[in-house]
Amino acid sequence: MIEPSEMHEIFEEYDKDNLTIATIGSHSALQILKGGRELGFNTLAICKKGREVIYERFGVADHIIVVKDYLELLRDEIINELRKRNSIIVPHGSLIAYVGVDAIENRLPVPLFGNRKILRWESDRNLERQWLSKANIKMPKETKDPREISCLSIVKFPGAKGGRGYFLVQNYGEFLRKSREMLKKKRITKEDLDNVTIQEYVMGANMYLSYFYSPLNDTVELFGIDRRWEANIDGLTRIPAIDQSNVYIEPSYVVVGNAPVVARESLLAKIFRMGDDIVAVSKEIAPPGMLGPFCLETMVTHHLEFFAFEISARIVAGTNPFMNGSPYSYVQYGCNMSMGKRIALELRNALKEKKEHLLIT
Ligand code: AMP
Repeated sequence: MIEPSEMHEIFEEYDKDNLTIATIGSHSALQILKGGRELGFNTLAICKKGREVIYERFGVADHIIVVKDYLELLRDEIINELRKRNSIIVPHGSLIAYVGVDAIENRLPVPLFGNRKILRWESDRNLERQWLSKANIKMPKETKDPREISCLSIVKFPGAKGGRGYFLVQNYGEFLRKSREMLKKKRITKEDLDNVTIQEYVMGANMYLSYFYSPLNDTVELFGIDRRWEANIDGLTRIPAIDQSNVYIEPSYVVVGNAPVVARESLLAKIFRMGDDIVAVSKEIAPPGMLGPFCLETMVTHHLEFFAFEISARIVAGTNPFMNGSPYSYVQYGCNMSMGKRIALELRNALKEKKEHLLIT
């Protein structure tokens, strides 16, 4: 396990007037790089061949490292180059998906913005549930045993499938019938079924709450709220029921984009309370706890209750609609505050106060 003290030593050797914000060229890299540059940092993107065009065309990266596979990030040559350029890596969903938590914890000895150890807590469903339940956040009931299905439930598969192949069931019989059908159509594998998670389906509207915890100010800020656009489930609502019943349309939940949401103002007090509780618990379970951006992924019911089905312990792509600021970041900071820029601002402030160690692990 790479310890914060090792990274603080490396950071101490860095040229503080010439720091680089580095990230994988994917997910939320545009705003991370743009924000870094706006606060006077150099910027660097590590891109899979073919993707560098995005960061070249938008002109947000001072330097681009092209790789065939993101795992090349773990090679000594690239690690040395990142350190030579005084880099701080900003982690996001693609770093977790393509490099993996094990490697981030043990084989990526480059200073990271945020708490390296907390990333595991978002990647493991059991740890995630422990964290949320300690923070008294309501969650949908969950089981691994399809015989226990007793209400409308969503059947989920792990990891990279990202919403593909999910289906809804009311009882065990329907689970057997639908999973057999999905296997036959090769939409899922036997292994997927062995690792299935079945959750009570929460009726309501989805809201993805993006927060920023500032260790410098010891406050949780509400940054923005989004909803996801998911294919095919969002498209299904545009087909009349009579036509839906004539064809089989896979009701998958694959995220294809994000759209801004503003919550009923009266919900904000609850939203702040949840953010505060999550941060308080994070300090117990994975010291120094949550640092910087995180997101609680919820359904809000017509009783105005939040049910969380996931937490992300880093920037989420749901902040991308707010590259020039969200309604909430406008209230707090005025115009033009993206989450990428908020990260860079915290780093800038930490440098001024000589408190970088509070942010870097
Ligand atoms: P996930 O892979 O857990 O992020 O879920 C993908 C999508 O499925 C979410 O964005 C929701 O639209 C939907 N979803 C997940 N869990 C539930 C649930 N328990 N109840 C209702 N919808 C859910």
